[in-house]
Formats: sequence, C-alpha cells, structure tokens
Amino acid sequence: MKALVVKEFGGPLILEEMPAPAPGPDEAQIQVNACAVDQFDLTIRDGKFPTAKVPIILGHEIAGVVTAVGTNVTTVAPGDRVTSTLYLTCGRCRYCLTGRETICADFRGYVGIHTPGAYAEYTTIPAVNLVKLPENVSFAEGSVIANAIGTPYHALTKRAKVQPGEHVIITGAGGGVGVHAVQLARLMGAFVMAVDIGADKLALVRDLGADVTFDASHDDFSAAAREWTNGEGADVVLELVGTATFEASLKSLARAGRMVIVGSHTGAVLNASPQAMIANEWEILGSRNVG
Ligand SMILES: [Zn+2]
Repeated sequence: MKALVVKEFGGPLILEEMPAPAPGPDEAQIQVNACAVDQFDLTIRDGKFPTAKVPIILGHEIAGVVTAVGTNVTTVAPGDRVTSTLYLTCGRCRYCLTGRETICADFRGYVGIHTPGAYAEYTTIPAVNLVKLPENVSFAEGSVIANAIGTPYHALTKRAKVQPGEHVIITGAGGGVGVHAVQLARLMGAFVMAVDIGADKLALVRDLGADVTFDASHDDFSAAAREWTNGEGADVVLELVGTATFEASLKSLARAGRMVIVGSHTGAVLNASPQAMIANEWEILGSRNVG
C-alpha cells in the first residue's frame, strides 16, 4: 500500500510503499476512503506532542470500509462502512464501564499517533473504536463525525446539558469544532451568539444559524452578551479558545451559568473569583475531545 510518513518532526510527509497492516485479534483492517486533516496533526508534525515518535503515519479522522477482522471481532465485518473514534481506551476501568471513556483511567493514547493512522490506503483500528456509517452519510462527512462533531456534541449535551430556549455563547465559533457547535446548539433549541475574529468566519457562522455574531478583534463580548440577554447573561458559554476569552466568558455568564472549557489554545490559567462563583452558583466544567 501507499502511505504518507512523517520521518522527522518539522519535515515533509513522505510517500512510501509498504505492506498493508494485518489486524490483531481485536482489530479491524480498514481500507481508507477519507481522512480529515486536523490542527492536531500539524501540532504532532511540528514535534509539539510529547509522546509522539517518528516515523509516524498520521490521520485519526477516518472513514472507510472494513476489509478484514481479527479473530475476536464480532461487532463489524468485511464490507461495513465505518468511521473511527480517536481514543485508545481500556474498556475495563470504572470510567469506561460507566460510559465515560474520554477519561479512561488506563488511557493508551490516540489512533494516528500511538498507532499508525489513516494517511494511508489501509490501517488497522481496534474494533471497539469503530462505528458503522449509514449509507446516506458520505465517507468525507463520516470522517469528521467523531472528532469535529462528537467533541461539541459531548460538550453541549453531556457537560453543559443545554436546554431549549437557553442562551449559548460559543467562542472560537468559526473553527472546525465551533462551526459544528453552532449548528448543534441551534438544533438543541438554544439561541446562539457566535464569537470569533474576522468578517469571513462570522459570515460563515451566521449562515450556519448563529442568531448573533460578535467580532472579538478589539473588544470583549461580555457587554454585548448582557445586551443580547436583556441583562441576564448567557446560560452557557462554550469555551473553544482559552485564556484570551476566559475573562469575557465569565463576565457573560448568567446566574446558574455553565462554562464548558473545550479549548485552551491561548494558555493555561483561568482566573475565577470564588465569591462570584458562589454568589452566582456558576459551574465551570471541562470537556475532552471525543474523537
Ligand atoms: Zn478505561
């Protein structure tokens, strides 16, 4: 098969011929039909992901067809159209057994980083990571479901528990996760304020259903958020940015508001006043990528 290999961090992707990988007992071999490119791939290629080692075949947003399965696999069969989740989890710890695989206590890493990924014609993936795709979902669409759509779905449904009629602010709304967060929040019946930088991104999220947009190039959005909610503040802020917007996000929260932190691209420190948290009964929640 042909595969694109990162042989040195910071270097190019190199096209190589190699044997297609055979599935282990709990794995399936997938013929890759689509593989999305994630910002995370660029982080790894730059050598900024500590546990990644070269040579490496990247690619964790995968859709394709099962071509072979290991002896223990009963959940998928050759010919199945599938997509894959990203996390390599143990399946046995208290978190995995209670539906919280994202915080597996025996986390084994990521598809496409700690196992060879899908920048290749074939790859092998633990069968437990595979989800069958309906016929009406294309491979290209299917490839982004787990990560770019699953991440905001998890954050909005399981963590923020958004209810119809609530006001939701999404920071970094024009990014790969944000554009799906905007659409999901609208589908959940929420009103959505989309915050990002630049007219192009804001036009995009407006087309995708955002009720209000705010360009955060010069001002923070908290005053606009208060105005949008008749002074009450937002029920939920989905934080996809990080330190740059944390302060404005907290200032935008209503009483009993929930801030769900998914992104931390701009730093790692959150300054929150305990008094404000107590007085408003705020909830500050973390939410992992679901990939
Ligand atoms: Zn586990």
